[in-house]
Amino acid sequence: MVQLGEMPDDKGFFGEYGGQFIPPELIAIMDQINDAYEEIRDTAAFKNELQDLFTHYVGRPSPIFYAKRLSDKIGGAKIYLKREDLNHTGAHKINHCLGEALLAKHMDKTKVLAETGAGQHGVALATACALVGIDCEIHMGQVDVEKEAPNVTKMKILGCKLVPVTAGTATLKDAVDSAFAEYLKDPANSLYAIGSVVGPHPFPKMVRDFQTVVGNEARAQIQDLNGGLPEIVTACVGGGSNAIGIFTAFLDDDEVELVGIEPAGRGLDTPDHAATMTLGSKGVIHGFQCYNLQDDNGEPLPVYSIASGLDYPGVGPQHCYLKDMGRVRYESVDDKACLDAFMQLSRVEGIIPALESAHAVAFAMTEATKLGKGKSILVNLSGRGDKDADFVANKLGL
Ligand SMILES: *Cc1c(COP(=O)(O)O)cnc(C)c1O
Repeated sequence: MVQLGEMPDDKGFFGEYGGQFIPPELIAIMDQINDAYEEIRDTAAFKNELQDLFTHYVGRPSPIFYAKRLSDKIGGAKIYLKREDLNHTGAHKINHCLGEALLAKHMDKTKVLAETGAGQHGVALATACALVGIDCEIHMGQVDVEKEAPNVTKMKILGCKLVPVTAGTATLKDAVDSAFAEYLKDPANSLYAIGSVVGPHPFPKMVRDFQTVVGNEARAQIQDLNGGLPEIVTACVGGGSNAIGIFTAFLDDDEVELVGIEPAGRGLDTPDHAATMTLGSKGVIHGFQCYNLQDDNGEPLPVYSIASGLDYPGVGPQHCYLKDMGRVRYESVDDKACLDAFMQLSRVEGIIPALESAHAVAFAMTEATKLGKGKSILVNLSGRGDKDADFVANKLGL
């Protein structure tokens, strides 16, 4: 039985995963963040402040929608969608960004810093910082700056300082290095806000805690709508924040199968995927231990997915632990099945999903047939697909 309240241990380990694989001076900084978080996490003041923003700013609870036309078309189990795509800013990321911004404010930090790849974390964080009233600085590879114009514009409008990074390949990894170097100049007055359940302790724990609202709502909602718990709960896994957010509430429901979906990209037999759980091995990346897609020297391999939010060569430590103990099953879905699910959900239900989320929808569509009628599957629809619409239309020649 998973005793969630006791996970991770006080060094930030979920079994052998997680921890703090960072220089001693950074451990002291991370421990300060952990202490500040532990001090406020269970106080009524902090919980009420966050819940109030969830309700009146994000628009929580997000609904659960029974995708009846899609389910009927497939002819198997009922497919339900947890609509995180309806949140303010269009995805689940705002849940933990608000938590991180509030923590920074509580710690009297004057600045929040982060990197961003496609710009989704950058926009959510810039939004949270504008609301909370704290400076925000986002580092982004020059290549991504040029590719992701709408998110770059949004970050500028939201008042954040955008730092284009031209070093190396000018993509996500270089943005991480650049943002981290900036953070180390003045860690006393700034907070590095990690964008998923990854990085050194306490981030995998904190980001998870901020996301558990998704599963707590969903578990009550689905019982109302469906008359009981679903057979399967599924979500896509990049770093793993939206997945752990919905899984946590169901961990003790042994009859509910939990399935995390990784991107198989152009195929697991090609180098172009990011199926870390399926094909990775144990190692350290960005200050924590987890499954990794790495070369023989322990360097991260280049990863790829049609959904840029899923192409990370590591994965959250709690997911690694849940895989090893057999509580969560990890499967993969390739670009082609993802695109098909993207189009079907758009045309049959009028919901354009994020390409990330479409991976979980694709799995649910296949699994619905296997499970059969009278059963049900709950999908965390982590975000909306506005950001992907032009790309998909070009790709499919629409
Ligand atoms: C960033 C993102 C993801 C991937 O991040 P996780 O931490 O794995 O949840 C998934 N879906 C959407 C819509 C995203 O923006």
